[in-house]
This record gives sequence, C-alpha cells and structure tokens, in this order.
Amino acid sequence: MATIKLDIVTAEKLVLSDEADFVVAPGSMGELGIFPKHAPLLSTLEVGEVRVTKAEEVYSFFISGGFIEVLPDQITILADTAERAEDIDEARANEARDRAESLMGQQGDSIDLSQAEASLKRAAIRLKVMQKRRMSRSGGSVGTSLDG
Ligand code: ATP
Repeated sequence: MATIKLDIVTAEKLVLSDEADFVVAPGSMGELGIFPKHAPLLSTLEVGEVRVTKAEEVYSFFISGGFIEVLPDQITILADTAERAEDIDEARANEARDRAESLMGQQGDSIDLSQAEASLKRAAIRLKVMQKRRMSRSGGSVGTSLDG
C-alpha cells in the first residue's frame, strides 16, 4: 500500500517525521483528510488534532494552528506548537484552562478576553486529545509510539 511522508515541525523542534497511510488535519475551512497521491494543497490550520494512520494504528497530535503543505508524496505541517498526545501534560493543561476561565470571569480593561478565550480553547483541546487517547488505549487499539 502506498504511503505518504509526513513531517510535523515547529520553530523549536521536529515532532514527527514518518510515513503515513492517511492523515487528518484541522484545516481552517474544515477537516482535511489526505491519502498518498493527494493533489497539491496549501492551507492554514486551526487549533486542533492531527490524526495519523499507519499500519491500522491511529496516532494523535495536538497543534495550536499553523500551515500545511501537501504534495503527492509529502505532507509538511508547520505548527505554532505541537505535541504528541502522550506528551501532553494534563496538570499544565488543567491549570491553563482554570487560569483562562478565571480571567474570563473578571472584568476590567487589563483583561484580554480574546487571548483568554484562545488559551481556553488550546487547553480544552489538549485535554480532549489526551482523554481520547486514554479511552482508545483502554480499548487496546491505539499504539503508543511512532518514529519521530
Ligand atoms: P500554558 O499557559 O500552559 O503555557 P499555552 O497554551 O499558552 O499553555 P503554548 O503557547 O501553546 O502554551 O505552548 C508553549 C510551549 O509549551 C510549547 O512548546 C508547547 O508545546 C508547550 N505546552 C503547552 N502546554 C502544554 C501541555 N499541556 N503539555 C505539554 N506541552 C505543553
């Protein structure tokens, strides 16, 4: 079966470089599902989950937005920040969510509401990506590592 090379990178690190059977990414205009030999495409990405299928296993990543370039044999995701599902720090995401919620409950000129909302969204999606992985693992169907 044909595969497609996938790189997930941030300004700081290479998060993944591997072959994939199928990739789903959170495009700004809706979810993008990409098989090998996909038509060339350039798009912005939203905060969300990237799902990578390889050998019937699905691996999940959090990204906080960015860009995707698709060529027939190569996908490059340039993300603002990216984490493998298993690397997400739950306590940190809970703290970020609580901090954002508390800021949103306050009034005053010094409160940047849109920043607090964006922070809340990042934390909520990180927690969702983590919890989904935990549920899948208890069902025994999702692998824990992919070459990076
Ligand atoms: P926080 O308020 O906890 O810093 P944030 O959403 O503002 O959260 P980002 O700006 O998205 O954080 O990310 C900053 C760096 O910290 C990135 O390298 C990102 O991968 C990492 N990071 C942020 N939150 C987590 C988390 N819950 N688990 C693992 N890494 C995280």
